[in-house]
Amino acid sequence: MNKFSIAIHGGAGTILKSAMTDELELAYRKGLQSALDAGYAVLEKGASSLEAVKQATIVLEDNILFNAGRGSVFTNKGLHEMDASIMNGFDLSAGAVAGVTKVRNPVELAYKVMTNSSHVLLCGEGADEFAREQNIKEEEGEYFFSQFRYNQWLDIRESGEYTLDHSDTKENGEKKFGTVGAVACDINGNIAAATSTGGMTNKKYGRAGDSPLIGCGTYANNKTCAISATGHGELFIKAVAAYDVSCLIEYKGLSLQEAMNIVVNDKLVKINGEGGMIGVDAKGNMALLFNCEGMYRGWKSSNGTDEVAIYR
Ligand code: ASP
Repeated sequence: MNKFSIAIHGGAGTILKSAMTDELELAYRKGLQSALDAGYAVLEKGASSLEAVKQATIVLEDNILFNAGRGSVFTNKGLHEMDASIMNGFDLSAGAVAGVTKVRNPVELAYKVMTNSSHVLLCGEGADEFAREQNIKEEEGEYFFSQFRYNQWLDIRESGEYTLDHSDTKENGEKKFGTVGAVACDINGNIAAATSTGGMTNKKYGRAGDSPLIGCGTYANNKTCAISATGHGELFIKAVAAYDVSCLIEYKGLSLQEAMNIVVNDKLVKINGEGGMIGVDAKGNMALLFNCEGMYRGWKSSNGTDEVAIYR
């Protein structure tokens, strides 16, 4: 039996202890732990890594503290446009959606794109239409609303700028961060990855980041690794970040940790690509790296490891 493991993230960026209350920190830790436990329970039953990353991501999407599903950031028009993707390292099958406005759990829709369509990426209205055909649960705007993210948007909406939801350095003690994702390795040595996000605050023109792009924010291949990224999407796209980790393993024979370290702490840093990523390989080894102050994260394995962390 293969060692089985799961790692999750809830976003990376300027996460300062000084800007966090004990109560809020506890809420984040609980949110991370429950997603980790949900994914791990799937693996423990002997089910697939694909199912485990989907379940863990759904728990994070349902948690208003994280920038995905409920609690997603606001676009320039004051709306929510969510992106998600999922990939199976066993056969490279993948599904993704970008700019969906009503879907309660975008990762579930990405999964349906993978299993019930012949496409990989569906965008905007078409993706919402596919969701209805697939009987995917939808919600109205107020479900996704969070006062904090609304205030965050009001602060910058006239500026024409867009920001990572975690890069506000104001010490107001109520900051809420986080694109979410999960990677896992199951007892059969199959690996998978999923990522889900509301994107960046005040984004315009149907902007999509790295999260719905296979190879950029999400990638999985049993031969190398499964990766879910978080950070400034434009730079992760330019770096083809998730696939680059896989390439370094495949072509250079590096370990997951070595390959991820090059991408996160060298290649991305050189182009100002703030963020981080989590990864797993087919032996159940995990890596969680970031080049900023913190990353909401957790990792759990059949060897007894069980941790959540926020700061460096
Ligand atoms: N990578 C996401 C995006 O650019 C944002 C994030 O990770 O928080 O849409």
